[in-house]
Amino acid sequence: MTPVEAVRWHAAGDLRFEDVELSLPLGPGMVEVEVAYCGICGSDLAEFRHPFAIRPEKVHPLTGQQPPVTLGHEFSGTVTAIGEGVDEVKVGDRVSADACWRCGECKACVEGRYNQCIYSGSIGLSSDGAFASVVRFPAYCAVPLPDKVSDEVGALLEPLAVGLHALDRGHARAGERLVVIGYGPVGAATALLGRSLGLDPLVCELSPGRLARAEAHGFETHAPEPEKMDFAKAVRGLTFLSASCNRSVSVHNCSSPNVSKRKIDCPSELLCGWPCATLDASTATTMADTEKMDRDMAGYSSCHLPFP
Ligand SMILES: [Zn+2]
Ligand SMILES: [Zn+2]
Repeated sequence: MTPVEAVRWHAAGDLRFEDVELSLPLGPGMVEVEVAYCGICGSDLAEFRHPFAIRPEKVHPLTGQQPPVTLGHEFSGTVTAIGEGVDEVKVGDRVSADACWRCGECKACVEGRYNQCIYSGSIGLSSDGAFASVVRFPAYCAVPLPDKVSDEVGALLEPLAVGLHALDRGHARAGERLVVIGYGPVGAATALLGRSLGLDPLVCELSPGRLARAEAHGFETHAPEPEKMDFAKAVRGLTFLSASCNRSVSVHNCSSPNVSKRKIDCPSELLCGWPCATLDASTATTMADTEKMDRDMAGYSSCHLPFP
């Protein structure tokens, strides 16, 4: 096969646009996809600055790959080839992907929580991803796209799934107050999905640009005053603002670094999207920190759920 163009992670701060051979073979159970669109996730930016999911020193036990690695896990494209035994998709199918590699044998995998597989690998971090013209990955990751979903929208499947998973973990129900903390792509997905499910979203955001975007999308918004460090207090108050319901769900998104550095003590049932503890890649100075972050992150990865 001729080399493909790819954006490769070589080390923190060292991304290279280069021609590479595909490192994964098109073996049994694998598919090859010509990439149409690929989003840039906050994780990609984090890995560029301070890697925590990419382990330069290790060969990944499921993928067999060791950096350098091609980034990109939020993508869509068309299947161009399939390996032996693949019946999930066929050549010509348009697909997106659930990026989780899984062993299929550990306790989490057997219980259907493969996003928490003990080996927790991701396309685009643990194996070559879709910042390239072609990507190969296990067929079980492929999610066929219906005709009415464009390639462009299909590439948003993974961040949409994160928002949906957050609402599911919070047992969100129609009529409840939904406080969305941070209006990056995942926050926006969460608020839009929440509204479509009949929740009453309120968006908290520090960035004026993102706040304006939330307003343009028709959401009630709140801009905390960061100099007063009043965020936790503000969210507590806002969570109780809705007199019409007796319960609220807060979703804390990783896309607001200014917010995510603060521990937020909400009275709502659950903070998810990102765990509510202070997590920031730059503070992960020990392996224990890094492993804790990996564990916590695994709890919020996408999962298969019926779309509302
Ligand atoms: Zn992502
Ligand atoms: Zn597993």
